[in-house]
Amino acid sequence: MQLSPRQEKIVEIVKRHGPITSHQIAEMLNLTRAALRPDLAILTMSGILEARPRVGYVYHGKPAQALVAEEIRKIKVGDVKGLPKVIRYDASVYDAIVTLFLEDVGTLMVVDSEGHLEGVVSRKDLLKAAIGDTSNLKTMPVSVVMTRMPNIICTTPEESVLTAAQKIIEHEVDALPVVRPVAGKEKKLEVIGRITKTTITRLFVELGTAGR
Ligand code: ADP
Repeated sequence: MQLSPRQEKIVEIVKRHGPITSHQIAEMLNLTRAALRPDLAILTMSGILEARPRVGYVYHGKPAQALVAEEIRKIKVGDVKGLPKVIRYDASVYDAIVTLFLEDVGTLMVVDSEGHLEGVVSRKDLLKAAIGDTSNLKTMPVSVVMTRMPNIICTTPEESVLTAAQKIIEHEVDALPVVRPVAGKEKKLEVIGRITKTTITRLFVELGTAGR
C-alpha cells in the first residue's frame, strides 16, 4: 500500500509522540480534525495505526512486514516464469544428459510428440541411470528414468509465486513445470514454462534491492 505524503507525516507523528489524540495530530499539522478523519480511517483499517479509546493513536509496528507479505502474494507465476526446457519421452538418457549441459539446467520436462507433459527428469535421475549399466545409455529412453504423470507437481500462470515456492519446499523438488489444460483433451497439460529455485532466488534478490 502506497501512503500519501500526509499519511506518512501522520505515521511519523504517531511513531514519535504516540499515544496521541486526533486533536493533537490535527494541531501539529495545522488541519481540522474533520480533514484528518479519512487519513486516520485508512491508517487504522490497514493496521498501521491503532485507535485506543480514551488513549489515542498508537503506532502498530507490525504492518511493514504485513505489507511486504501482501506485495509478495500479488506476484503471479506468469510474471516470473522462465522458458520451458523440454525433451521428448523417446529421446535417450544420453541425449537428456547432453541437453542438460547445453541448456544449462538441472531439470528437463519430458513431453510427448504434441508437447504434452509426460514427466520430469532431474539430474539425479540421470546420474542414477549413468552409474548402473552404462552400455545402453544411448538406447534407453528417458521415459524409463523420469518421474511420470500423474505424480508431477505443477503450477499455473495464475498461481501465486508464493504457493509455487511452497510446493518446491514441500515436495523437495528443484523445478515445477508451468502448465495449462489442453482444450478438448482431458488430463492433458501443455508445458508453457518453468519455475525453479533459481527463479525464486532471483525474485528474492530483485525484491531486496528494489528502489536502491
Ligand atoms: P535432484 O536430481 O537435484 O535431486 P530434484 O530434487 O528436483 O532434483 O528431484 C528429485 C526427484 O523428484 C527426482 O526423481 C525427480 O524426477 C523428481 N521431480 C523433480 N521435479 C518434480 C516435480 N515437479 N514433480 C514431481 N517430481 C519431480
